[in-house]
Amino acid sequence: MKATVYRSTGSWYTAKAQDGTLWQCRIKGRLKIDEEITSTNPVAVGDEVMLEPEPESGEQPTAQITDICPRNNYMVRSSPHHRLQKHIVAANLDQVMLVATLREPRTSAGFIDRFLVTAAAYHIPAVIVFNKSDLHRRKEEEQAAEWQALYSSIGYPVLFTSAETGKGIAALQEILVNKSTLISGHSGVGKSTLINLLLPDLRLKTQSVSGWSGKGLHTTTFAEMFDLPGGGKLIDTPGIREFGIVDMEKAELSHYFVEMQPYLVHCQFNNCLHLNEPGCAVKRAVEEGKISVERYASYLKVLDSLSEPEW
Ligand code: GDP
Ligand code: ZN
Repeated sequence: MKATVYRSTGSWYTAKAQDGTLWQCRIKGRLKIDEEITSTNPVAVGDEVMLEPEPESGEQPTAQITDICPRNNYMVRSSPHHRLQKHIVAANLDQVMLVATLREPRTSAGFIDRFLVTAAAYHIPAVIVFNKSDLHRRKEEEQAAEWQALYSSIGYPVLFTSAETGKGIAALQEILVNKSTLISGHSGVGKSTLINLLLPDLRLKTQSVSGWSGKGLHTTTFAEMFDLPGGGKLIDTPGIREFGIVDMEKAELSHYFVEMQPYLVHCQFNNCLHLNEPGCAVKRAVEEGKISVERYASYLKVLDSLSEPEW
């Protein structure tokens, strides 16, 4: 029987079968896992799995996960326990959505750009939502217009929402419909408020979970998937501050600043890092205003944070 994983707490998984039944599952023995990635969690939210029902099921049916279907894609972060190991946050995504704010708190361009790099590295389309637009004053309006122009010009949809006034919520629903979307954002941007608006039944649920004495609090760093009322799925990532740019080489980085891609073949050196090399087409494009100075500055910062390859 095929099912989709909606929730994981480390050793137990909740999976939904095609008939809508929820199964509590465990992994049976050793699974044959995609050798391409070594992660600290063998099964992730969004995975399609094969279940074998256990004979003695109580109130909630239990099953064993016997197989994982190949993933279309996945998003990772460094493992909470081992910095150099990967933890698969979610699999089989249609898009990732960053919730950011211009005020209270102010999201930095660097944070947005690192998110976009990670999404590009894992080949997942990204969308940017600026929430709390009701708080914008003149200064924020100017910044909003700049960022909207910049990010949409390089292919990222940009939305402005207010969970307070309801502005932009219909557009947000539209961009989510019939897709599987991982939603992320640093604390305080209104992600939970937006999710509660999108999932009217959830509020009850979050209350009941937190009413459960906080014993399970550490499990909140695991992603959880919800069905959207209008079709589609939303994956929340509570407690995950940022997705890691895990083991990326310096020379790879410019491929994930999507607007740099068309220039890369024109650099004089094919291992150009676009710093001070002669004949660098990326730097020329920055000077000619074809690539934003702000994005190039982000590129330099991320580049600096990546370690040198070990020879
Ligand atoms: P999270 O940490 O991203 O999940 O943020 P919360 O959903 O807990 O929201 C943080 C605070 O921002 C709460 O006090 C919310 O009421 C408030 N908030 C959320 N969305 C908006 C918004 O669109 N406008 C304003 N003014 N406040 C908001
Ligand atoms: Zn170059």
